[in-house]
Amino acid sequence: MLALLDQGAFTATYKYAVLLGLLDLCLENTARTGAPPTSVTTRQLAGKVVELYWPHVVPHPIGAVLRQTTNRRASIVTDIEAFRAAVEARTRHPLPLLGRARTVDPAGYERCVARVEWTLIRYPLLLLQKVGGEEVRFLYEVGWDASVSEAAVQRSQRGEVSSFANAILLKPRVGEYLVQLNGLLRPLIHRQWAAKVARLNDLEEAKLEEFLFGAKRVALTAVRGPLLALQAGRCFYCGHAVSGTPEVDHFLPWSRYPDNALDNLVVADRACNNDKRDFLAASAHVQAWVRRSRDGDGFAQLAAELDWEYRPERSVSVARAIYLRLPADVRLWSAIGQFVRADPRAVASALAAAA
Ligand SMILES: [Zn+2]
Repeated sequence: MLALLDQGAFTATYKYAVLLGLLDLCLENTARTGAPPTSVTTRQLAGKVVELYWPHVVPHPIGAVLRQTTNRRASIVTDIEAFRAAVEARTRHPLPLLGRARTVDPAGYERCVARVEWTLIRYPLLLLQKVGGEEVRFLYEVGWDASVSEAAVQRSQRGEVSSFANAILLKPRVGEYLVQLNGLLRPLIHRQWAAKVARLNDLEEAKLEEFLFGAKRVALTAVRGPLLALQAGRCFYCGHAVSGTPEVDHFLPWSRYPDNALDNLVVADRACNNDKRDFLAASAHVQAWVRRSRDGDGFAQLAAELDWEYRPERSVSVARAIYLRLPADVRLWSAIGQFVRADPRAVASALAAAA
């Protein structure tokens, strides 16, 4: 994996998108037992890749959309940019969230994902495992090669009989390794991706990482008030009435799984939020969070009103992927200045109780 990340031969940032996409899919599709998936589909991966590039295809402060490849006709980025521009023209909103864009133009979204899927099939998925000029299939197997035809892929996309099978079969234990190493691999891939874009655009790298992957990119102020109301005005962590400006916290830390879906957002007072930072919350908080997602009528309604993404099953799968394989001696954040030992049994039973 490190050799693959190190080699600079790739002309585009696609390999990073594919790796992050695989990482996310393994987290999101972790089963009740805690087992990661053994295969994912090219369609699922294309959806993730669109999600990853979505915040990148807006003009950077330097004035243009950043280049992600040495090739001027970067089809993946160009396709996503075109879809984004079409949605912006329709909504007259300069920064629509992807969830909103999907609601506004579902057919356009499907077309965009289908095109991205084809590009992934044709290039990055076949090229990714070439390290030092030699192909070593250490991550996954696919059932096609460079002779794959677009017509066959399109038949498969329409659900018709096709010679093309869209499975990406993960090699034994790969899903498990990806989930276990998520906390290490994700920042490493972000860093390398930012470095690549910095080189392609002649920019300073440090600021760029925040632009591409920062949690601050999406304004969460719209959800803050309504979420606090659903929490009866209380801090999610300490339970005290929030005085001062409430803050929105990512329950599953952004560094582990960047997700702005409503189910992953909680409101906390500034003191709790500042202290929790990127730590994982203790089992008591996980129980409260799962309980909240289970009787989440208010949340589903709020998500619909705000056109905000709401995916409680997905968040719970990610929580399983992260919490069910914590080392026994790990400390979890419980309250300001307080850490407690992970209680694997309590977490497991809380997550098992999730819908
Ligand atoms: Zn608090």
